[in-house]
Amino acid sequence: MLLDAVILGAGPAGLAVAHALARRGAATRVIEPAGRVGGSIRTIREDGWLVETGPNTLQLEGPEDAALLAAYGLAGQVQAADMRAARRFIFARGQLHGLGANPLSLFASGLLSWRGRLRLLAEPFVRRGGAPGETVAAFAARRFGAEAAAMLMDPVVSGVHAGDPSRLVMSACFPRVHALETSHGSVLRGLMSGPRAARQVVGFPQGMQQLAEAMAAPLRAASLRLGCVTTSLRRDRRGWQVAWRGADGGEEGATARHLVVTAPSWQWASLPFDETVAPFLREWEHAAAPPVTVVARGYARADVPHALDGFGYLTPGGEGREVLGCLFPSSVLPARAPADAVLLCCFIGGARRPELARRPDPELRALVDQELADTLGVRAAPRKEWIQRWDPAIPQYDAGQGRREEALARAEAAHPGLRFHGAFRGGISLMHAIRGGDELGRELAGA
Ligand SMILES: Cc1cc2nc3c(=O)[nH]c(=O)nc-3n(C[C@H](O)[C@H](O)[C@H](O)COP(=O)(O)OP(=O)(O)OC[C@H]3O[C@@H](n4cnc5c(N)ncnc54)[C@H](O)[C@@H]3O)c2cc1C
Repeated sequence: MLLDAVILGAGPAGLAVAHALARRGAATRVIEPAGRVGGSIRTIREDGWLVETGPNTLQLEGPEDAALLAAYGLAGQVQAADMRAARRFIFARGQLHGLGANPLSLFASGLLSWRGRLRLLAEPFVRRGGAPGETVAAFAARRFGAEAAAMLMDPVVSGVHAGDPSRLVMSACFPRVHALETSHGSVLRGLMSGPRAARQVVGFPQGMQQLAEAMAAPLRAASLRLGCVTTSLRRDRRGWQVAWRGADGGEEGATARHLVVTAPSWQWASLPFDETVAPFLREWEHAAAPPVTVVARGYARADVPHALDGFGYLTPGGEGREVLGCLFPSSVLPARAPADAVLLCCFIGGARRPELARRPDPELRALVDQELADTLGVRAAPRKEWIQRWDPAIPQYDAGQGRREEALARAEAAHPGLRFHGAFRGGISLMHAIRGGDELGRELAGA
């Protein structure tokens, strides 16, 4: 039987492709080496705690995203984040500075000096400029001034990308913000004019794993192959010939019109492609993807002096601290901690301090103890702790990204039916993986 598609990977990207195909009656197989679906999504439910050691929240950008969740059967299951989530803190010069959704809160916060604030306000008068491949740090300093670049853009980049702003490329990491300079001559003017995207931060009562399970539900029996290793990938005149070995050692195979690779790029060297495809993928061999270790902790509410009235905090790299930032999940979504308790989630490592993420547990504990004492005034021992190591964690869209993406485009053009989709290109967020996967699945179903 000729399948419509074989999809490598049952992370959010692969599940979204497969679900869109399944909704249109297409026949697929999803090959996943792990014994579970969800990839980087990882929800722990334990004694009244709901801990996300991967993505904590999903950011919807409009009605199409909400409609997609409804298509997964989750319409009644979406939990909107508490209004407090709009408030984010930056930890700088020994204190937390709260920033609200209203840009004016930045001017009231004291995060920037008067000179820094005035320079930021002058952004609409800065002339267009910047060379192709301009880094996030250079773009931000040129448009917003050095102080705003260091105090605002830098922590956002380390929080979202776990990256180094002096290496990441602005147009690849933040394409929409980057485009505002060209379209409006100014980022601030561009943000003020035109309709504001209706952004919504959401979660699910059973955590992010509920999203992955909902996407996997229609695939379960017929399509999904968990615990399977791909043993052969080649194309002949009938289509893509794919073989895999199951957890029980049994061999299975299929012929498909399309082969969709959603496995992370750091796994591509182990995919059994022949020499017609492998050279394109070698471009990705040295793509940076630093490690991140997540240390989640549950505390008695009374042991945390801070109000935790926000989404969490991030720290500019210039502060020289060892923790990238800390989320306050129990302030953002309901039922993340038992009554009278709070959940905190610290991130360590990333592109600038990868070695920290690889420290042994006792050292990480000491580091987080010190961090939470300095930033939130926590001195008590936690009631619970969870440590999750992601190594590698997040792809870095640096100066080599353009060349690498070109190689993928050439591979796709040279091999009919071969497609790549995932956090390795086009966007690193969960919603991007899902939205792009849905679009690709619909395209392939119509092809
Ligand atoms: C610590 C952390 C926190 C994050 N927080 C957020 C957040 O709060 N909000 C947000 O929007 N995004 C967040 N992200 C990013 C988000 O998790 C990713 O955008 C998303 O998981 C990307 O999905 P994906 O399917 O491309 O990759 P993955 O989730 O990595 O899934 C890839 C799948 O491919 C499988 N695979 C591996 N090797 C093979 C192989 N040889 N063959 C077949 N399959 C294979 C893997 O087992 C996995 O199931 C976070 C990421 C991390 C690591």
